[in-house]
Amino acid sequence: MKWRRIKKENSKQPDKGTYTDWKDQLADEGYNQCVYCAIHEGGFGRRNYHVEHYRPKSCTEFKHLENDITNLFFACCICNSFKSDFWEDPSDKLDNSAFPDPSKINYSLLFELLSDAKLRGKNVAGSFLVEKLNLNRPQLMVERKLVSLLDRMETGIQSVSKLKKALIEKVKETGEERALELLSKLVDSYGSLNLAQLEIRKSIPYTTADTKR
Ligand SMILES: [Zn+2]
Repeated sequence: MKWRRIKKENSKQPDKGTYTDWKDQLADEGYNQCVYCAIHEGGFGRRNYHVEHYRPKSCTEFKHLENDITNLFFACCICNSFKSDFWEDPSDKLDNSAFPDPSKINYSLLFELLSDAKLRGKNVAGSFLVEKLNLNRPQLMVERKLVSLLDRMETGIQSVSKLKKALIEKVKETGEERALELLSKLVDSYGSLNLAQLEIRKSIPYTTADTKR
């Protein structure tokens, strides 16, 4: 789960329809993940994502931005509902309780990932978002732990693959084919575990309880 700046400078204002019709475009622009918590739609489902008005359409001063593509983002329904119609002008220094503009700030500048899969704010804006959006909710903790496990698996597999390569060279020199056979089995086992982790990640069921504080 990695945050990325949304490149609105490349965004094309659709010439027909209204914001409700543009979710697919916003998903593409937003790397198919929630702009705020970074959960990928692959683990949650596109139906659980909303078109988020960064500057709330309920504020009279932003009413004219209701169908302005530069004000629209792809956000999960939970973050979207926690944010609701909150608005406070953000500071470029990230030193106030406001939502930085996701098209200007990479949100990875806001958060530090701790070893227990919790997020901690790196600055005032980050701490505010962790609290406001409940970014340590169970659903996200599970997702982060799984991503971390997958990363560790991948590192392990790469390490074993390197060993295998080195052993192949050795076997060529010494003819110890049994050793190569054993190591090949080990590599296959790592591969199976990695696939299993991917399957687990896809099949985690989320319940409505997870969306509550
Ligand atoms: Zn979210």
